[in-house]
Amino acid sequence: MLIRNGLLALPGEDSLVRADLRTRDERISGISLAAGGSLAPADGEVVVDASKFLVFPGALDPHVHFDEPGFESREDFFHGSSEAAKGGVTTVIDMPCTSLPPVTNREALHGKLEAMGGKSVVDFALYGGVAGNGIGESLAHAMADLAPDVVGFKCYFISSMETFTRIDHYRFPEVLRKAAGLGRPLLLHAEDWDLVTAATAAVKSARGNSPPEWADYVASRPEAAETVACAAAVALASGFEPNLHVVHVGTAEAARIVASAGASCETCAHYLAFSSDDFASKGSSLKTAPVVKEKGQSELLWKHLADGSIAFCASDHAPSPFEEKNTGSVWTDYGGIPGTGTMAPYLLSEGLFAGRLTLRRYVEISSESAAKRYGLWGGKGSLEPGKDADFFLVDPEGSWTVEGRSLLSKGRITPFEGMRLRGRVISTWVRGRPVYEAARADRGETGIAVEAGYGKHLRWGYR
Ligand SMILES: [Zn+2]
Repeated sequence: MLIRNGLLALPGEDSLVRADLRTRDERISGISLAAGGSLAPADGEVVVDASKFLVFPGALDPHVHFDEPGFESREDFFHGSSEAAKGGVTTVIDMPCTSLPPVTNREALHGKLEAMGGKSVVDFALYGGVAGNGIGESLAHAMADLAPDVVGFKCYFISSMETFTRIDHYRFPEVLRKAAGLGRPLLLHAEDWDLVTAATAAVKSARGNSPPEWADYVASRPEAAETVACAAAVALASGFEPNLHVVHVGTAEAARIVASAGASCETCAHYLAFSSDDFASKGSSLKTAPVVKEKGQSELLWKHLADGSIAFCASDHAPSPFEEKNTGSVWTDYGGIPGTGTMAPYLLSEGLFAGRLTLRRYVEISSESAAKRYGLWGGKGSLEPGKDADFFLVDPEGSWTVEGRSLLSKGRITPFEGMRLRGRVISTWVRGRPVYEAARADRGETGIAVEAGYGKHLRWGYR
């Protein structure tokens, strides 16, 4: 296969480079700069004319909740991975906490692989979980049992899930040390339990019997809850900071605390795009945990993405059906949104094309940095000969409007509804095969171009 004459986003380059890209046996077999003369197609070789398109390395989404098995009414691997493919994502990493049973031991991991086997259309890796319930088993053997099959471990400082409870500050250093010993990062949901619990009670009591408002939900998760939790995590890390990764950071101060300690963090597109003021127009469609922050934080997060204090972007894709999103109360509406299909298009439009991110930084944020962090860099994360032929083609002249009803996810309620984005994904390729083609979608199909199950399970050290 020859992808001919496209503008390629090559690693470490400050600008796009016109070149031909050849794939063979699922890999990139050669890249030839147009200045050096075009590659001649071999006999019978399929040629794709990419002269009007930009070619980006396949995006990694290192934070998705595909909920299978157990909560398939919210999302499953086929719909979730289809939505990912539509948005240029070629590898997802799935969280251990929102399936049943949660992936805290090897039996649960095998159950998950069996349940979702044959369903993903993009490549995927998994995290193992460490919950307060069962922490003894985790530290004794379950983390070690899981390590060969997972690319990191996830834990929470605060959790409302009965099946996956928080770990306390006393146990946290032990879990971090254990993960480090196994050569895996520990991912932390960093919001302070003490602050959120007390704030929630105070807000509810102040509201009394009147109907709660979105401001109540915002006030129940104060911004200090994130900075306090990050400061605690860093203080308790005692030498293992490089092994700590804080997920979905929404404040600049938290990013600074984490980065200056030598740990890493991610943010999500919704923290870049929205503030708590937007609840007035978006209501429940914007409800996530942690909640979006005060106006002003977004531009600071963009700055920290650009300067490297925030390592990369993730979607925290966690959709739910209409009924769960509209229960009639800000307290019980589901806290999660779809996002894996809008993440890379949003970063392209509002980051790269809007001038907030350099090309080099966009490539790091969307592909390279997460591939390195999660042991996939040998085969994923950049357009280089020898790596998997994972990329997506974008028409820079095209623009489109996000519409919930067009999402391939099971969840159709998105705060990005109605947002106009520059740059249209034309096709997404995983290991040399188109998994999504916009031309099919234009004909009224879903756009998915491979059979369910094409995606494969990636392990740490994949090459
Ligand atoms: Zn999450």
